[in-house]
Amino acid sequence: MSGRRCRCKSRKLVHRCCGPLLGGAPAPTPVALMRSRYTAYATGAADYIVHTTTPGGPQWMEDREAWLEQIRTFAATTRFEGLRIVEAPTVEGDEGFVTFEARLSRQGRDVSFVERSRFVRLDGRWTYHSGEPA
Ligand SMILES: [Zn+2]
Repeated sequence: MSGRRCRCKSRKLVHRCCGPLLGGAPAPTPVALMRSRYTAYATGAADYIVHTTTPGGPQWMEDREAWLEQIRTFAATTRFEGLRIVEAPTVEGDEGFVTFEARLSRQGRDVSFVERSRFVRLDGRWTYHSGEPA
């Protein structure tokens, strides 16, 4: 593996951060999943976004091709400038919450946002269920 820093801005090398998760390893925590999804968006790994979304949840789209296209378009037209955990994440059983700020821009315009995300563990794997502005 290369010595590249991870795109999630953890300052870790990618193979010690989001790399293994994008390669199929289960995320150990909701925070790890959130970071890896940010990296997936930043690198256009649309399949990973679909694979780590709670099936049948509010963010799930039945039309997978349209969904993948939507993710790829978002990834290609957005600059991913940073990621910051805003509040201490909480985990209780198979449910976890992470509040983060994603610093993004599109065509020079700041489109950063803060979101409180809900994660659900299914069959031992964390998935992204939903998020609300925070
Ligand atoms: Zn990372």
